Amino acid sequence: MPEPSEQPLATGRRFDTVLIANRGEIAVRIQRTCHELGLKTVAICSEADRQAPYIKSADNFLCIGPSTAGKSYLNQDAILLAARLTGAGAIHPGYGFLSENAAFADAVERAGLIFIGPTALSIATMGDKIAAKRAMMAAGVPCVPGPDTALPDDLVSVELVALDIGYPVIVKAAGGGGGRGMRVVPKADQLHEAIALTREEARKAFGSPSLYMEKFLQHPRHIEIQIICDGHGNAVWLGHRDCSMQRRHQKVVEEAPAPGIAPEIIQPVGMACVEACRQIGYRGVGTFEFLYEDGAFYFIEMNTRLQVEHPVTEMTSGVDIVRAQIKAAEGHVLELTQDGVTCDGHSFECRINAEDPDTFLPSAGVITRLVLPQGSGIRVDTHIHAGYKVSPYYDSLIAKLIVHAPTRAKARARMCEALAGIEIEGIATNIPFLRALFEDHAFARGETDIHYLEQWLKLRRAA
Ligand code: ADP
Repeated sequence: MPEPSEQPLATGRRFDTVLIANRGEIAVRIQRTCHELGLKTVAICSEADRQAPYIKSADNFLCIGPSTAGKSYLNQDAILLAARLTGAGAIHPGYGFLSENAAFADAVERAGLIFIGPTALSIATMGDKIAAKRAMMAAGVPCVPGPDTALPDDLVSVELVALDIGYPVIVKAAGGGGGRGMRVVPKADQLHEAIALTREEARKAFGSPSLYMEKFLQHPRHIEIQIICDGHGNAVWLGHRDCSMQRRHQKVVEEAPAPGIAPEIIQPVGMACVEACRQIGYRGVGTFEFLYEDGAFYFIEMNTRLQVEHPVTEMTSGVDIVRAQIKAAEGHVLELTQDGVTCDGHSFECRINAEDPDTFLPSAGVITRLVLPQGSGIRVDTHIHAGYKVSPYYDSLIAKLIVHAPTRAKARARMCEALAGIEIEGIATNIPFLRALFEDHAFARGETDIHYLEQWLKLRRAA
């Protein structure tokens, strides 16, 4: 199994204790690799998470605030204080919460600690989707048609931008994320309202009214490329994932590799991503997200953190991505070369959510019975157990079911079997919905795009 980053560097960035500034399945996932590396872990929690299993398995823990995330998992001062009190030398932010907050990454490093992620500057550049697009265009990465500048205030000029791109267009908040802060504009007469609504949403949700516009692609797939960089000019890409199965721009199922993409088509895109990382001096792991339509790739954004769907790449590449992230943060030189990256077989991930399978409304409560699938090629990343109380305060993701098999067809069959083997009682989950989706013929053939799932749900509701 290839493992990146073996050679220690005398950078003075060594640490022996990692504070994991997150919760749920990703806190468990990060803790596992830290312990494998011989690192001690500090768990932090809100009052709602005091009984979570990873609190007990951490070497140390601190409750840092009340259940509301704003007062706990997003409380930068409390997290920094927890690190100081527990002697942690590094902070792993996981995903969500503070993971893409440049000010937090900066505050961590200023406090003399190591942020397990890229530099604050990289996060800030890539967090502004307009700046990211500009940087990618400069590095020769293909982007969705549309200017790499913010929309002007004057609506007549905005109309000209839209006419130049050609309808339909999509208006997006420069600071947007999580599928929010974007609006499709099918025709010119809807432009003014779309601009006003998105600007207001952007101001409220992301603290900046800055918007940009690009072509709305009608039937693309979402394909992304995982990269690892050491910050010393060495970078590799670990193959690709398809995350086209989305509801409300949020991923539901992911797979690696993206089906039906010829190596000669994706190869130059992967190499352009690696080159872009070198040009911006990127350190750590990251993901370049693309839309893929009619044989062409268009960059949409870069995520400067570990992603929910990283396990499908771990299953196909054999690389522990969290380990690579920690080693890069320590200053190790990447040992893995592009020639050493091999991607074998096929992997699927299902996001198991505590939500009604028909209405998708969150379902909080106590899990009264839990049976998880086991067997060759099956991985479950989770923090739940029988008796666990699913809190209404956070994201509804309670587990990730990941399978791996030699071919896509075999991996799909394995996922169907694994989904049938899960029993969760006491709360509602989206498992019945996932089971139906994995039986769908178009999905089985890999013939879907980012709009497919919404259309499929509409047809199911109508039936
Ligand atoms: P976020 O940061 O909120 O995740 P992204 O820019 O990554 O936003 O876009 C999320 C999803 O929105 C994409 O996966 C895709 O489904 C849809 N999307 C974004 N840009 C476009 C576009 N130009 N055309 C069509 N769909 C788009």
